[in-house]
Amino acid sequence: MSDTPTLALAKDLLSRQSITPEDAGCQELMIKRLEALGFTIEIMVFEDTTNFWARRGNEAPLFTFAGHTDVVPTGDLTHWNTNPFEPTIIDGMLYARGAADMKGSLACMVVAVERFVAEHPNHKGSISFLITSDEEGPFINGTTRVVDTLQERNEIIDMCIVGEPSSTAHVGDVVKNGRRGSLTGNLTVKGIQGHVAYPHIARNPIHQAMPALSELATTVWDNGNDYFPPTSFQIPNMNGGTGASNVIPGTVDIMFNFRFSTESTVDALQQRVVEILEKHDLEYDLDWIINGLPFLTDTGDLLTAVVNAVDTVNQQKPQLLTTGGTSDGRFIAQMGSQVIELGPVNATIHKVNECVNVEDLEKLTDMYQEVLNNLLA
Ligand SMILES: [Zn+2]
Repeated sequence: MSDTPTLALAKDLLSRQSITPEDAGCQELMIKRLEALGFTIEIMVFEDTTNFWARRGNEAPLFTFAGHTDVVPTGDLTHWNTNPFEPTIIDGMLYARGAADMKGSLACMVVAVERFVAEHPNHKGSISFLITSDEEGPFINGTTRVVDTLQERNEIIDMCIVGEPSSTAHVGDVVKNGRRGSLTGNLTVKGIQGHVAYPHIARNPIHQAMPALSELATTVWDNGNDYFPPTSFQIPNMNGGTGASNVIPGTVDIMFNFRFSTESTVDALQQRVVEILEKHDLEYDLDWIINGLPFLTDTGDLLTAVVNAVDTVNQQKPQLLTTGGTSDGRFIAQMGSQVIELGPVNATIHKVNECVNVEDLEKLTDMYQEVLNNLLA
């Protein structure tokens, strides 16, 4: 039996060693297929990153499939049962680096669009692809730069499906209709270095920081809402001291990170942190990094179309969740777009022996096609 179009394209993409930020010809492969369907292609190279924007149609609404061709490194090859760049099917599972995250989804998107356009050559609205090769890396020259370019010329994405692996046990059991924001603080609390035997002429920044950190760690920032768990505060790193048992250190460095819901804003979180630090009379420096803003798509045509498409294929509606790390969806949502993540099971992503269920790829192709049917037929 020969491979289905989805499986054949997935294997072709997975054979290319596109370790982030390399693309290794994956985009060229997709571009050829989309050009044949009448898409206008724009290749956007920013520094070391290759991206492309492809669009078919000039009307609104503008619907976009977003994804990435890069993959994370393989890790120790001796722990792989197969060559990670020789896609191999064992017991109905397709093994390769990127099978689930997310070259499988890319193949499903292309084939879904091929089928849809064949049936509806004069479809409503516009279909586009926003594909990057730096999602797994520093995400500086990928989706965010393409979004900037589109916004500069007022080309606004109305609805977007990101093909990130959203599912838990089988494809479509979970779709992500939002993501939490991520905000990091790098705090240095300053004291006065000295001999531990002469604490009266030193000032221990660790002792001073502890009550404030305790308050930060136990503060309720918000209670979340229907879609988001409460905002969480965690200290992933803390460094202080010289290693000697007789020196009071001059400073202690604390890194903390918020994963925050749409009930909190960056400004409000920053303000409350500063209030707590001031209350404890600390002398400190504090730098902030906004890693991503939260987004939520809790209503609208896209959500309805996706839920119904999954229901049509699975005879079961998906669960809507906002759990997990950040994704490129956050950059697209900043345009005001409706954004939903729908992709395969994420159990093996970034691990050795990454795999995807071959049947799930066929179902995902059907789901993507059904979304197009629901929105643009
Ligand atoms: Zn991914």
